[in-house]
Amino acid sequence: MSAPMAIGCRKHPRLFSKHILHKYRHLLRYLSNSQKEREYDLVVIGGGSGGLACSKEAAQLGKKVAVLDYVSPSPHGTQWGLGGTCVNVGCIPKKLMHQAALLGHSIQDSRSYGWDVPESVNNDWEKMCGAVQNYVKSLNWGHRVQLKDKNVEYLNALGSFADQHTIRAVDSKGQERSLTTEHAVIAVGGRPTLPTQIPGMVEHAITSDDIFWMKKPPGKTLVVGGSYIALESAGFLTGLGFDTTVMVRSICLRMFDQQLANLVTDYMENNGTRFLKQCIPLGVVKNGEGKLEVTYQDGNGNQIQETFDTILMAIGRYSVTGKLNLQQIGVVTDDVGKVVGGHGGDLERSSVPHIFAIGDVLHGRPELTPVAIKAGKLLAHRLFGGAQAQMDYDKVATTVFTPLEYGVVGLSEEEALATYGESDIEVYHAYYVPLEFTLPGRDATQCYIKVICQKGEDGSVLGIHLTGPNAGEIIQGFSVAMGCGVTWRQLSSSIGIHPTTAEELVKLHITKSSGEDPAVTGC
Ligand code: FAD
Ligand code: NDP
Repeated sequence: MSAPMAIGCRKHPRLFSKHILHKYRHLLRYLSNSQKEREYDLVVIGGGSGGLACSKEAAQLGKKVAVLDYVSPSPHGTQWGLGGTCVNVGCIPKKLMHQAALLGHSIQDSRSYGWDVPESVNNDWEKMCGAVQNYVKSLNWGHRVQLKDKNVEYLNALGSFADQHTIRAVDSKGQERSLTTEHAVIAVGGRPTLPTQIPGMVEHAITSDDIFWMKKPPGKTLVVGGSYIALESAGFLTGLGFDTTVMVRSICLRMFDQQLANLVTDYMENNGTRFLKQCIPLGVVKNGEGKLEVTYQDGNGNQIQETFDTILMAIGRYSVTGKLNLQQIGVVTDDVGKVVGGHGGDLERSSVPHIFAIGDVLHGRPELTPVAIKAGKLLAHRLFGGAQAQMDYDKVATTVFTPLEYGVVGLSEEEALATYGESDIEVYHAYYVPLEFTLPGRDATQCYIKVICQKGEDGSVLGIHLTGPNAGEIIQGFSVAMGCGVTWRQLSSSIGIHPTTAEELVKLHITKSSGEDPAVTGC
């Protein structure tokens, strides 16, 4: 307490004690609660990738655990079951629709391999969606069974904090229950943003929460946004045969190596996706035929109108912490509502010592399913298994599942340059032709590999980037090598597997600085 405040308050003893009580209210509440017998060792709010992993792991360690999961419907009324974003409206349906689109491409290619395929081959949206949704529902069921088997109590209820050790759970019928707990984990993830300031968007636009559950085919679609979700969605919609336009206000894939980001979008453009760059939507109205008339502004300030059947907004996601009462119980969040971790030397510990956050809701961490799962498991072991290991958020591999996949681990060239400087890095690269592209004569102009290293005999590999078929499958193994600190010498002395795309990575030998033609020719 600062001296002037103490002196000032001594004149008003009641004000002084009121001030002290208010200032230390969280601590006092914590101390008074800490003596009580609590019902649970752990209550997790949010049954998505992170919450399920953490709760199951804690229960396996013999603890009494409950997990609350509740899905508020999207503005268009879409709702789903247990498992969170990834299972229901994220990775799983997205990857299956990506696969559906790739299959369409393969059917075309198959003619060159001797298959007799009819001229016109169409995708049946209802059939595809039905199959995807049935699979998702089987996963919902699987998660419920696993929770039961592992002795985790599941409550289909909306959670919030009544105090630091009490969670209030309200189910869809309005029935309320209080759960007292030693520890709590916030794993509520996020939801897609809809721009309230653009007239008509909230009423008429859908998001990734709806697209995988649409009963009717989307038709001519406008996708707004330039990141993972926008490009992946536009990629599979184009591949499924829909007239698809992406509206980007700035650049695509901002967080990624821009050379590779441009290859990804060039490939999409060459394969039928239309891009409106430097454009922003201004408003949308539904016309008499039920079509959506969009007004947008281009980079020169011109206002243009165009009609679409569907608008998919993919402009980012927000954290759903607004109704958890975090501020009231002293959990510090950032300006977008994410929980700030790292207190007491623990990466997932919030400003309240026994409350933790994992997954998309944790400030400054990658929003990816394996990250949420790993963080949840490690946390359970630290809390209840005597373990010390912290999550390693560095060098997390990821893949953008666009028609030409982009897999990456480590730094972009821009980041490497900014961190190490031009004189300290060497970039090896190659344009290659995947063997499967050859017979159908598919254009491989955008199939590219880049490895960024620290200069010197035993320079560490800083970043690996690859565009091409199955990039996600390929990068996974290389991320293990990077985690082990692989050097350029070790990478380039590995023996390839022939004939594969992955072998091109260990065959790299041309540096960017040499200015030599990086096109791979022959074996
Ligand atoms: P979530 O999975 O979002 O789970 C949070 C759960 O908590 C939800 O079920 C929510 O309804 C519930 N909840 C919220 N508030 C409350 C409350 N108050 N009470 C009770 N329950 C509550 N990641 C990848 O790694 N690979 C991919 O290919 C990939 N593709 C994606 C595609 C799309 C379209 C999207 C949107 C995301 C994708 N992601 C992908 C990201 C991935 O889905 C998330 O990183 C991951 O789901 C985060 O897990 P989580 O546990 O933090 O939260
Ligand atoms: P991001 O936050 O990554 O990107 C938002 C995009 O929307 C940017 O291109 C941004 O442009 C643009 N944008 C933001 N506001 C507006 C606006 N008002 N008008 C027009 N454009 C706007 O969001 P995503 O929703 O794509 O992805 C969220 C997270 O989900 C990702 O970070 C990723 O971690 C995860 N994810 C992972 C996937 C995978 O692993 N394959 C797939 C999908 C999602 P600008 O750059 O100009 O700000």
